[in-house]
Amino acid sequence: MEKIEHIGIAVRDLVSANETYRKLLGVAAYKTESVASENVNTSFFKVGENKIELLESTDPSGVIAKFIEKKGEGIHHIAFAVENIREEMKRLKAEGFILLNEEPKLGADNKLVCFVHPKNVNGVLVELCQEISEQK
Ligand code: ZN
Repeated sequence: MEKIEHIGIAVRDLVSANETYRKLLGVAAYKTESVASENVNTSFFKVGENKIELLESTDPSGVIAKFIEKKGEGIHHIAFAVENIREEMKRLKAEGFILLNEEPKLGADNKLVCFVHPKNVNGVLVELCQEISEQK
């Protein structure tokens, strides 16, 4: 894995969270995007080389809504940039990690993504992401 690409934070209300993070980071979100496949609205902030992703559920039974219901708002996942997502998925599977999707799927911010079950990662939901433009 190359680096931490972003940290995903589950929020109840994206508009007010955008304002909070704008004040916190001193910079506005550089993009907001809906990801229909995940039932989320997202926004992204740049902090130096790193990014923060805010996620708001668009569906009361969606994964982010369920997460907030169980644990409240807060850090939802850590995303790592990978060069070749398929190879990394194969490697992690061989190491005994549980992948939440068998094929890379289209995520926010022009990425192919795969999630790794938190159960085998000490309670942390991990996202692998590969820039689509870098795909070979
Ligand atoms: Zn993410």
